[in-house]
Amino acid sequence: MATAGSAAQVQALGRDHAFHPLRIARVVDETADARSFVLEVPAELEAAFAYRAGQFVTHRVSIDGQHLLRCYSMSSSPDVDDEFQVTVKRVPGGAVSNWMIDELHAGDVIDTTCPAGVFCLDAEDTDVVAFAGGSGITPVFSIVKTALATTSRRVHLLYANRDRDSIIFGTELDRLADQHPDRLDVVHHLDVEQGFIDGDTVRPFAGIANDAEFFICGPPPFMDIVEGTLIDRRVDEARIHIERFTPAAPASTTQPSDEAGPTDKTRVTIELGGKVDTVDHHPGTTILQTARQMGMSAPSSCESGSCATCMARLVEGHVEMFVNNALTEDEVAEGWVLTCQSVPTTPTVHVVYEEG
Ligand SMILES: Cc1cc2nc3c(=O)[nH]c(=O)nc-3n(C[C@H](O)[C@H](O)[C@H](O)COP(=O)(O)OP(=O)(O)OC[C@H]3O[C@@H](n4cnc5c(N)ncnc54)[C@H](O)[C@@H]3O)c2cc1C
Repeated sequence: MATAGSAAQVQALGRDHAFHPLRIARVVDETADARSFVLEVPAELEAAFAYRAGQFVTHRVSIDGQHLLRCYSMSSSPDVDDEFQVTVKRVPGGAVSNWMIDELHAGDVIDTTCPAGVFCLDAEDTDVVAFAGGSGITPVFSIVKTALATTSRRVHLLYANRDRDSIIFGTELDRLADQHPDRLDVVHHLDVEQGFIDGDTVRPFAGIANDAEFFICGPPPFMDIVEGTLIDRRVDEARIHIERFTPAAPASTTQPSDEAGPTDKTRVTIELGGKVDTVDHHPGTTILQTARQMGMSAPSSCESGSCATCMARLVEGHVEMFVNNALTEDEVAEGWVLTCQSVPTTPTVHVVYEEG
């Protein structure tokens, strides 16, 4: 899977991990349960907020006195759109998505990190085959616009939604298909009419071109079916880009249990917000998971090694970082680690979360 960025990609990603207050210029109703937020990027931050189609930002919001962090992808394309826009869809019972849709208005300010992420087009001239489900259209829409505007690549999109009224960017996609009849085809799949997608829905897309570049973003079951079908059809996994909106456990780690389990004789010390604690490490558990076991509310967001929200400084010992799509080589050399992806490899490890 094309999940880990190359060193060059990582170098190209934002080095500024701070939150910047951005003013909301406009709020756009997309569907009954999705809204776009156009953010004003001040001139002095324009370079830091330069982005590639498919990337995302992390917002920090305060709800009932609690700081919450969530990632949202840009639905705008840096190559087509003048405005910088994210699109949020309600998640039933979800804290931040509902709060943003209900409470944020033009003129409000929202804390935002610089763009990050590697769910982006490679420099190729092959077909682009994209699969989007629900809010997964957000980064895919940006990628589609960029591919059409800056390349001569053909773009094929399978876009699944519950029903016709839930289709985000339907009119814009129709307009793009009219403008590029030989280069863009959009196949809509509506669950209420056709049931959930299955292998038969996906297979024709797998066979479009052997060397196509594939993009998948949507709810976990949707992504599992698409990915599984592509792999069954022997699509090269290196050509498949996946953006997960829900955290996936890092490879070769296990979820920690609340009960005391076996330890690997490693002692982990974590400092956060003036509190210091040391515990025995549970095999396979990440530093972030260990901090949570200690009862610390360590910062985190994507939990897939892409956003750097969970970064902390390693002041003693070594860790293995499974995925790093966010820190530069210099930052890693300075001792910064992504705690959601880091597992200790020495008998003692000491990590400090610095106040941001
Ligand atoms: C890289 C990336 C890009 C993303 N881009 C977008 C985007 O462009 N657009 C978009 O809409 N989303 C996007 N997301 C998803 C987004 O970050 C949020 O995860 C999403 O909006 C849900 O957040 P929430 O705070 O509303 O829900 P949460 O409060 O995190 O809840 C999520 C789910 O858990 C359930 N839940 C919450 N608390 C409990 C509990 N105590 N017990 C049981 N269940 C519980 C909720 O009911 C809900 O179903 C992206 C995510 C990532 C990682």
